[in-house]
Amino acid sequence: MMQQFQEIKAEHRDAILFFRLGDFYEMFGPDAIEASKILDITLTSRNKKNDPIPMCGIPYHAAENYIARLTKAGKKVAICDQVSDPSLPGIVKRKVVRVITPGTTYNEQVLNQKANHFVLSIFPQRDYFGIAFADLTTGEFHAAEFQGEDELMTELIRIDPVEVVVHREHYDDPDLRIFFANLIEVPLSACDLYEEAPLLLRKHFKVTSLEGFGLANHPFATQASGVLLRYLLDTQKSDLPHIDRIQSYHRDRWMFLDESSIRNLELFSTLRDQEKAGTLLSILDQTKTSMGGRMLRRWVLQPLLRRSEIESRHEAVDNLVKDDQLRHDIVDQLNFLTDLERLLARLSANVGSARDLVSLGISLEKVPHIQKALQKSEARMLLTLGTQLSPLDELTSLIASALVEEPPIKLTEGGIFQDGYNEKLDELNTLMRDAKKALREIEAREKEQTGISSLKVGYNKVFGYYIEISKTNQDKAPPHYIRKQTLANAERYITPALKEYEEKVLSASELAKQLEYELFLDLCEQTLRHVHEIQMNAHLLAELDVLTSYAVVALKRNYSKPEIVDEQAYVITKGRHPVVESMTFEQAFVPNDAQFFDKEVNLKLITGPNMSGKSTYLRQVAIIALMSQIGSFVPAERVQMHLFDRIFTRVGASDNLVQGQSTFMVEMQESANILNHATAKSLIILDEVGRGTSTYDGLSLAWSMLEYLHDHVKGFTLFATHYHELITLADKLEYAENFSIDVEETKKGVLFLHKIKQGGIDRSYGIEVAKLAGVPGWVTERAEEILHELETKRELKRSKVPENQLDLFASGMSQSRVPGKLTHPAIERIKGLQLDQMTPLEALNILNELKGLKEDEV
Ligand code: ADP
Repeated sequence: MMQQFQEIKAEHRDAILFFRLGDFYEMFGPDAIEASKILDITLTSRNKKNDPIPMCGIPYHAAENYIARLTKAGKKVAICDQVSDPSLPGIVKRKVVRVITPGTTYNEQVLNQKANHFVLSIFPQRDYFGIAFADLTTGEFHAAEFQGEDELMTELIRIDPVEVVVHREHYDDPDLRIFFANLIEVPLSACDLYEEAPLLLRKHFKVTSLEGFGLANHPFATQASGVLLRYLLDTQKSDLPHIDRIQSYHRDRWMFLDESSIRNLELFSTLRDQEKAGTLLSILDQTKTSMGGRMLRRWVLQPLLRRSEIESRHEAVDNLVKDDQLRHDIVDQLNFLTDLERLLARLSANVGSARDLVSLGISLEKVPHIQKALQKSEARMLLTLGTQLSPLDELTSLIASALVEEPPIKLTEGGIFQDGYNEKLDELNTLMRDAKKALREIEAREKEQTGISSLKVGYNKVFGYYIEISKTNQDKAPPHYIRKQTLANAERYITPALKEYEEKVLSASELAKQLEYELFLDLCEQTLRHVHEIQMNAHLLAELDVLTSYAVVALKRNYSKPEIVDEQAYVITKGRHPVVESMTFEQAFVPNDAQFFDKEVNLKLITGPNMSGKSTYLRQVAIIALMSQIGSFVPAERVQMHLFDRIFTRVGASDNLVQGQSTFMVEMQESANILNHATAKSLIILDEVGRGTSTYDGLSLAWSMLEYLHDHVKGFTLFATHYHELITLADKLEYAENFSIDVEETKKGVLFLHKIKQGGIDRSYGIEVAKLAGVPGWVTERAEEILHELETKRELKRSKVPENQLDLFASGMSQSRVPGKLTHPAIERIKGLQLDQMTPLEALNILNELKGLKEDEV
């Protein structure tokens, strides 16, 4: 047996082998050592005396739980079962029936209902990357190609796979191994391709060319798809009929959201404590199904770039908002839908139950109702969606007539099918029922013949059917009764007649169970013939669920339909932050406007004290654009906008200490990403650039970035800063405007009005905020004194140097671009000299004076 183990193990070196022995799965050698640690189970050894082998085991019926823990820890588990009858002589045959990896599990404990569970393959070729990713639990399979690490990285963040698989050759290449490890922190697996990727794909998807999948001129995506499919087939050891097409995509359909925007805009988790509550998703998610929940997540990550697609969604939401009847009808039906995608995947992988089929049937029954409701809609997208749904009447009535309403979970215990579905089964059932009736007759007859009124006929697993007589009546038992079991108060007997009936009942019951199992497999097969239609239905219903969810949220929160315009403009009237608004009591949220017009206002500089609402305003301008481009309504009275190619954000100081990067480094990396990739069609949100370094460093960086964005990038930019010095700059730049957030000074302290207004503000109110935060009075009073002293000193210095001290920063590059606007005090001084009335010595003295100017005087 150990030899058999070694042979099988040699083929599954990178997995922990669960070796079935009786009622246990045993692990041996290094597998046992590793698994016992992760699972916290006792490690023992086999062959204790000579050459002990470490081993540990788990009961087979509890395997799911243990497997889940191992895959969560990033391990793979190869399930090796007994495949021949153990009662036959010789060693039982064993075979690996499935390999469960972190990315290929059906376990509910591991899966998140409302998120995909993707395993992804990467095929690198110099600077190009082919990728393919699939969710085994839903049957989706996507492929794409990218150029450059940045693009690849952005895409990996969006997809968020749980496992990455690469070709064995790439896996064995040490340089590539390091590259993959740096790219993403999920388990990496290797896979051999035994045949050409296109050949394998054509065979599996039953097509003559890959052109229909959009892969014709994409060799790297094709290779990645091949590797991924091979990996899935090898681990699942099944044909995977539910994976029935490849959806390839190109990057011009969706906006790429980088990691910092996903994080900064708090789309899926909050910055402060990684919570789900308080995120955009938590506001938008009123979906009724898990499929819809997953689709919404995807839509949030894939803002659209094509106007027609966006407007179709807006139109559909508008229809659902206005037509109460339509919306109610759809929501009523959606409530009954189960997770069709995952259900279908379980059935395809032969791990489905009769209950899965019942809920599949119930869900499909809703399709015609939904179609009927959609016929009345006015939006194109909803009408098309209705016609694309397949009612599958025959299949639903087949399932409805076949299965009982609540079948048992086990498939081998019978009780799954209704009467009238199968003649043979009906016959067996009748036989069983009749036999039971006969037993009741035996009971009555025996009672009468023996005169023992308390006599009972019963059944247990060990002794089968028996006649039970209480101890007090024991002497009345007739001689042909054979004693079988003695209890405290009773004796149990059998008789030949009873035995005969028993056999009849039991064999009928065995036959019925076997037949039911076969009928179930057959029903599954008939269902899976419609795999493509069911999957399509699932996809369409998920879309409908998201659109309806948009409508429900729009009504509940009073959102409006955005207008997409041709000219390059972005105008928000009375915009709100969807999340902050939901947390502000009694509608106390103060709405704000924003206006950008190309070649008029491209850049807004916002100054204002901390806590006044700068970050909220910045984020809300970005989130409104994002919401519009994912097809949702927006929290504003009115929004007119052109389409943005990307939304960039750099908000607040986020620490990435885990990765060993300083706050300032992260800040600069995020800024670099924006400056390198933003275009005139991008929306750029920059909050507090240069905060993480010394004042002059920070101010200089903020200053030059602002100029770069204004002169070179030209995208619509919101730039919040606490450097009041930048106000002067914004005043001078042609397409820039100063804004600030209003503050009212009252006797009791400052009041933040959260209202945005034209013009800069040059006070920080830091001490006021400190007071509001509860810093002791002594400290804030002393701080006020110090501030006063510092300000007086600064005033004195200023009076010595007549020109605006900041003009130092106007030297060099900025001067050439804004002629005559920004100058240096030295230049001003020189300009003012009457050279023809000066002696050379006087000129030399002035030169000397200018040379002596200290840094803080300019
Ligand atoms: P800043 O970035 O200026 O420090 P925040 O944007 O973080 O300020 O806002 C501070 C707090 O003020 C928020 O937590 C929110 O409760 C409140 N706030 C911000 N904007 C508004 C608004 N428009 N209406 C009402 N309350 C607001």
